[in-house]
Amino acid sequence: MIFNKDVIEAIGNTPLIKLKRASELTGCTILGKAEFMNPGQSVKDRAGKWMILEAERRGALKPGGLVVESTAGNTGIGLAVVASARGYRTLIVIPETQSQEKKDMLRLCGAELVEAPALPFANPNNYQHLGKRLAEQLRKTEPNGVLFADQWNNLDNPKAHYDSTGPEIWQQTDGKVDGFICSVGTGGTLAGVSRYLKEKNPAIVTACADPHGFGMYELFKNGQVKSTPGDSITEGIGLGRVTPVVETAKVDTAFLISDEEAVTIIYDLLEHEGLCLGGSTGVNIAGAIQLAKQLGPGKTIVTILCDSGNRYQSKLFNPAFMRSKNLPVPEWLEKRSNIEL
Ligand code: PMP
Repeated sequence: MIFNKDVIEAIGNTPLIKLKRASELTGCTILGKAEFMNPGQSVKDRAGKWMILEAERRGALKPGGLVVESTAGNTGIGLAVVASARGYRTLIVIPETQSQEKKDMLRLCGAELVEAPALPFANPNNYQHLGKRLAEQLRKTEPNGVLFADQWNNLDNPKAHYDSTGPEIWQQTDGKVDGFICSVGTGGTLAGVSRYLKEKNPAIVTACADPHGFGMYELFKNGQVKSTPGDSITEGIGLGRVTPVVETAKVDTAFLISDEEAVTIIYDLLEHEGLCLGGSTGVNIAGAIQLAKQLGPGKTIVTILCDSGNRYQSKLFNPAFMRSKNLPVPEWLEKRSNIEL
């Protein structure tokens, strides 16, 4: 019999899937790491697993303890899945603007949810500060202690990708990978994978794909955090400051990706390749195409398929929502979607 002893063991070891149209367009082999196939359906299951198991190892989490985190949703789901399997509770602080599907999933996974107004990081009531304050308050009353997961500062987050995503990519490509690119939420994925691959082979080109309105494009392209103009409907990505996690990244270059490019790729993948994925994945694949064009034909480039499109049915796959953002809606989506705004 071959089986995983619990859901935590089933996190990771995701397949690499060849992206047909992106590969044909560039003459490269563009491969997507299918992170939507994790139990919590996103790349952040790995961070959830590492942040909880490493805290246990250090004695920072006791039986029946409470895990608190500020998150755009996916980290919260990853933490809730792992916490549930280990007998912990979760309290999640999420910006109210995040998709209803992620909030519903968090509640179903047993997380207690605090919705925070969408405010810039500089505002003391931004959800990231709110989560930290809440964790500090609860520490005074929680009988079994509180772990504030703190994904922007917690180096167990990039460690998850240094220990698992990076080695998996290396093994799955037999070390014949020429480029790696992904976007940044906390930077955990980019930092962990880029550091691992650069240690294996410094010639591998590592890159960041950034949507408009954030600071990582300027940081990795020109060495200084500077916000690019515009905004983005993509969820879970976009960072405007250098964090301890980002500091550990080994990144050569960056590409700026528009929402229009990203969503067009997501719609094409659903129409022609049977893949239903979220907006940040569109940014990643658009970035992989740019990187492929820069490196030239014949190369192998890996990116991350971050989460499932069913997490965004009310937004990305809702024609009325997309029209309200002045973004393109394919004709077939009008016919297939029955979602009202
Ligand atoms: N895509 C989605 C949909 C996410 O939720 C996240 C994490 N917030 C990312 C990408 C980026 O992952 P990381 O935090 O490792 O940069």
